Amino acid sequence: MLSTMQDEPLSLATLLRYASTFRGDSVVSTWTGTGVRTMTFRELGTESARLANALRGLGIGVGDRVATFMWNNNEHMVAYIAVPAMGAVLHALNIRLFPEQLVYVANHAEDQVVIVDGTLLPMFAQYLPNLKTVRHVIVANGDAAALEAPEGVQVHSYTELLAAQPDTYDFPVIDERSAAAMCYTSGTTGDPKGVVYSHRSNWLHAMQVISPNSMGFTDFDKVLAIVPLFHANAWGLPYAALMSGANVLMPDRFLQPGPLLEMMAVEKPTFAAAVPTIWGGVLAGLAAQPQDISHLRTVVVGGSAVPPAMMHAFQEKYGVRILHAWGMTETSPLGSVSHPPVDVSGDEEWAYRYTQGRFPATVQARLVADDGTVVPNDGESLGELQVRGPWITGSYYAPDGGSVDPEKFDDGWLRTGDVGKITPNGYLTLVDRSKDVIKSGGEWISSVDLENAVMGHPAVAEAAVIGVPDEKWDERPLVAIVLKEGAEPGADQAGELREFLADKFAKWQLPERWTFIAEVPKTSVGKFDKKRLRAQFADGDLEVTTLG
Ligand code: AMP
Repeated sequence: MLSTMQDEPLSLATLLRYASTFRGDSVVSTWTGTGVRTMTFRELGTESARLANALRGLGIGVGDRVATFMWNNNEHMVAYIAVPAMGAVLHALNIRLFPEQLVYVANHAEDQVVIVDGTLLPMFAQYLPNLKTVRHVIVANGDAAALEAPEGVQVHSYTELLAAQPDTYDFPVIDERSAAAMCYTSGTTGDPKGVVYSHRSNWLHAMQVISPNSMGFTDFDKVLAIVPLFHANAWGLPYAALMSGANVLMPDRFLQPGPLLEMMAVEKPTFAAAVPTIWGGVLAGLAAQPQDISHLRTVVVGGSAVPPAMMHAFQEKYGVRILHAWGMTETSPLGSVSHPPVDVSGDEEWAYRYTQGRFPATVQARLVADDGTVVPNDGESLGELQVRGPWITGSYYAPDGGSVDPEKFDDGWLRTGDVGKITPNGYLTLVDRSKDVIKSGGEWISSVDLENAVMGHPAVAEAAVIGVPDEKWDERPLVAIVLKEGAEPGADQAGELREFLADKFAKWQLPERWTFIAEVPKTSVGKFDKKRLRAQFADGDLEVTTLG
């Protein structure tokens, strides 16, 4: 028996229509360095219509890829909704990819148009001659004449192009399973892999993002979107904001702690999202120059494990709640969010908040051991996390329809490569990436646990732990430390840090090898780049202190 319900597709065109009418007074603003330039959702609607008309004029139709090479700003937000709403496919390029990877993903996705920020033109100009399918470049917030176009490529000014367009567009409501946007993984090994989101997956995901069980922002909020729009589907923030009417604050290129704190002081966002590295910088900035940031009611942090010391510092010194979340490019990215159960308090509540959190009903999760068996959710058994659901990718994009990395999928489940445990009431704790776990004498040491613990020491700004070869134990941890200003590197400091860990780990887990570095190498999305750290170690670039 079929239902009597209407079969209305979950289309981003419908979301745009809703946001620009019934949520028309909400605002997107972009920091200019001294203030903001603003655009209401109503204006976002007319700008989207103009952009869609312009793109259609350039020959873009349903399914064609339109790329962005931009900071988080008003124009990027317009592209984020207008491109899928017209039936084309948005591809936000990661401006920090290595050049050969950037060229690879743009060619692989067969991007036809790229919208580029003026300030990024010098960088983009180096790539453009190698972008084989790009026919048009639209320059926003800058001088189009500054870009020399290779043969066959036309350069347009965003402002002039849009000014010449009608401010209405008949956005088609297309099959909800159609491609809406694509994002490549920022993996540090091999070529980046493409994930293609659908209208349906983005719609359902946005509904989850605004649920109080997840990020839960509303039209009372002003959401500071520090996470780049090119990282992991922008954590779902743009579509969730359009759906909830939440105001959005875009930092543009002002991503250093100083400018971030300045824009917070002026704009007083209530909500923010970024990886831990950004918040580490903000904490250091606050220590140097205190400022009231209690206007932030929630800060969502994910992308890497959040050190408990960071959560405590924000809560206890600044009254700001950090909400720990886990996800991946492949999972749209929302996987789990760590809201503690309502009936716990004190240390028990904190223990829940340290975890990667609970999954929503739409994301099914299981843990699988090396031998392929599913392990119980008993809060102790470890296994690789596998997930499935309507916003989890079922494959990687292959232009020829082939299969990329089929071993990343297991009988309809996505293999995340993350190792963890799940409690009977559904809280996930990730122990490590499977490739980062340290295998010492047949036992496992979690690099993340060591990092989190060392980062709890007042002299430590950042710590990254890698496994290094050891004759006796196969592998042992090497702790790379970035000290705060004023602390002295050396054997004494290493000894003190080891002592600091002594009551937190079994004796055999305590690291002997320590190295003091100026900076932990970071990936294109600001995570610790352990591959580069391993290479530095292998090349003999790290001076290692070994404690007896
Ligand atoms: P990306 O696709 O760049 O977002 O990377 C996804 C990966 O980041 C995951 O598979 C995890 O290894 C890692 N990750 C994301 N969130 C967390 C978290 N809260 N704790 C630990 N690792 C995380």
